[in-house]
Amino acid sequence: MSARDPVADLRRIAFLLERANEATYRVRAFRSAATALAALPAAEVAERTRAGTLTDLPGVGDVTARCVTESLAGEEPVYLRRLVATEGVDLDEAAGALRAALRGDCHTHSDWSDGGSPIEEMALAAVELGHEYVVLTDHSPRLTVARGLTADRLRRQLDHVAAVNAALPEGFRILTGIEVDILADGTLDQDEELLARLDVVVGSVHSGLRDERARMTRRMLTAIANPHLDILGHCTGRMVSSRPAGVTGPGDKGHRARTRAESDFDADAVFAACTEHDVAVEINSRPERQDPPKRLIRRALEAGCRFAIDTDAHAPGQLDWQRFGCVRAALCGVPADRVVNTWPADRLLDWTRARARASG
Ligand SMILES: [Zn+2]
Ligand SMILES: [Zn+2]
Repeated sequence: MSARDPVADLRRIAFLLERANEATYRVRAFRSAATALAALPAAEVAERTRAGTLTDLPGVGDVTARCVTESLAGEEPVYLRRLVATEGVDLDEAAGALRAALRGDCHTHSDWSDGGSPIEEMALAAVELGHEYVVLTDHSPRLTVARGLTADRLRRQLDHVAAVNAALPEGFRILTGIEVDILADGTLDQDEELLARLDVVVGSVHSGLRDERARMTRRMLTAIANPHLDILGHCTGRMVSSRPAGVTGPGDKGHRARTRAESDFDADAVFAACTEHDVAVEINSRPERQDPPKRLIRRALEAGCRFAIDTDAHAPGQLDWQRFGCVRAALCGVPADRVVNTWPADRLLDWTRARARASG
């Protein structure tokens, strides 16, 4: 006999979500599930939990069913535990502490692809912000709308970065990188030899975002198993809003205002693979992306994933958007020690190199 009441746990979650000013539909999901279960005899709830048929009930989804299962097993549901952990924490303070712990940014663009500014200007803005490093991650060849870099152009960029680095202030450096397209079959859109040379590889899906679930999951799992991939970029591909006022201009080609639903994939399988292969899950700070959504950040956290809180900046001023990502991470209770860009550059490089070695 369980000491916990699953209905009470669901209501408590709804209350805490409401108080944290979370989206109404999410609050409603927990309240509807609580109402549906409260109407049933406890024995039936227990039987359905054993049989895995809770989700056949109207108003009960995967997330709420999982809470009920944990609750009936006598455990505080993970979802509730997260909310309680962040309850009463002054969010400004928590997000501020996370932001203060960040030493660099692992996802940025220059005018070599679809960014609006030269590498030097991006670097100087990063210095101003107090960063110790910034990873330059221009797009890969297939993303022609974003002027993705061919292997030759990327080689030239590496020479250029070396020259720029030599002229930058002591204690700051540009790390080399790429935002490489995850192609339809899960392979990465750049020469192997170049990927091996780069300091940090962010991999993102930019095409076929409506792939059906099994196909998208396979595609992402293949990419995550690739020893060159370090960070999984904006994993759902969603666009939540049109761009905020004042954010327009030549630096934003390819990031036009539109909304787009999340890609459909098996998040538990993807996050488990990220943990297994030690790939960090990006928390993309762009206001129109806010990717992944908070419920997936929480699941990635539970799965043991590392994170990178990055701006995906296409212009110098956007490098300051990291605080948006920090607010979202803090809301989900992401601790600084799980965030790879709280590390000094040398530790970050040890990590990316060790990953490449470990996987052969
Ligand atoms: Zn991208
Ligand atoms: Zn990007």
